[in-house]
Amino acid sequence: MDRPIIGFFQDEAGDWVARLSCGHRQHVRHQPPFVERPWTETAQGRESFLGETLACAACDRLELPDDAVRYKSTPLFTEWTIPKVLRREHRTKAGVWGRIVILEGTLLYDLLGPNPRTSTLDADTPGIIPPEAPHLVEKQGRVIFRVDFLSAPDPASGV
Ligand SMILES: [Zn+2]
Repeated sequence: MDRPIIGFFQDEAGDWVARLSCGHRQHVRHQPPFVERPWTETAQGRESFLGETLACAACDRLELPDDAVRYKSTPLFTEWTIPKVLRREHRTKAGVWGRIVILEGTLLYDLLGPNPRTSTLDADTPGIIPPEAPHLVEKQGRVIFRVDFLSAPDPASGV
């Protein structure tokens, strides 16, 4: 999934790391002749790359960013009270992750493009929803679940 760069910081070794809108980070080293990224060497160069996108493999693997923090949860829903809005295609905002937590039973989770997959969620298998990824849920039978919303802490953005 392509994600825009929203800022940069240096790791302990002094290498430049890009912060992506999803909350993931990616090294953007300049290592000639293997990787040519001379723009990482200057503040002006880095600034010019704000908003450019990088392919985020961590999003494709449905990995929550390490420092994602839950800031809100829905009430508990059952197979009788699943809101319609969850059963048709919808998506979270930029930077907002969802986590479907099953307390009892099972629920079908359809993640739609760009990497569609369908999975059955249960108490041991929460559903991870990457920011802005279209998705929906379908009931299968008995279920009690809620949805958590998480965001990566605001980056100390800089170039
Ligand atoms: Zn990501």
